[in-house]
Amino acid sequence: MTTDTRSKTAAVCENCGKAVAARLSEDGEIRPIGSRRGCSCGGTSFRTL
Ligand SMILES: [Zn+2]
Repeated sequence: MTTDTRSKTAAVCENCGKAVAARLSEDGEIRPIGSRRGCSCGGTSFRTL
């Protein structure tokens, strides 16, 4: 098991614009922290600030 030391980043939901704390995976995917299923609005696409 690899220790997750990826740097945190700020991202915003593409759908509602809500800012969330996220983490970049190795393949560049943005994964919101604490909300694996995506934004509370139902959006699953995020972009970094
Ligand atoms: Zn959203």
